[in-house]
Amino acid sequence: MTSNSCQSPGENGKIKLKGRCHCGRFSWEFLHPPFATRSIGNESEKDPVKGFRPARCNCSLCSMKGYIFSTFLKPSEIIWTSQSNLSDASSYTFGTNTVHHYFCPVDGCAIAAYRDEDNGLVTDVVAVTLNCVYEADGRDFDVEDIFKRVYDGKNA
Ligand SMILES: [Zn+2]
Repeated sequence: MTSNSCQSPGENGKIKLKGRCHCGRFSWEFLHPPFATRSIGNESEKDPVKGFRPARCNCSLCSMKGYIFSTFLKPSEIIWTSQSNLSDASSYTFGTNTVHHYFCPVDGCAIAAYRDEDNGLVTDVVAVTLNCVYEADGRDFDVEDIFKRVYDGKNA
C-alpha cells in the first residue's frame, strides 16, 4: 500500500478507484468521473457540475444481484492488479445475450458487465460494479454513500 500523500490527482479531474472481489482473486483500478455530492433527481446520469450518479438497474438480473454500475469504460481502461483478469472470470448472459455479466468463479462477486454488440448502443464497453470498490483517491469508499439513479432496464 502506498502512502496517500504520494497520490496525485487523477487524469482530467477523474478519481482513481480500486476494487476487488471478496476472495481477492480479482483486483483492479480505474479512473472514474467524480460522483455527485448531492441528490439532483433522476434526470440524467452525468452533470458536469454536480457529478456522476451511477445506475442501479431494475432489470431482472440486476435487481437480483444489486449491481451499482460505474460509467462506461473501454476494457483497456481497467488496470488489473491481480494475476487474474476479466478473461478469467465466469460470465452469464440472458435475453439478447449481448451483455456479458462477469463474476468471480470462487466467491460469486459481480465484477463487471461487458457489452460486445447491441442495436445502436455503445459497444465494446465495460461497466464495473461499484459494489466491489473499496478505495477512491486513497480514501475509503462505500457505495452506500453515493447518490444513485435508476436505469429502467426492465423496460429497455
Ligand atoms: Zn473472488
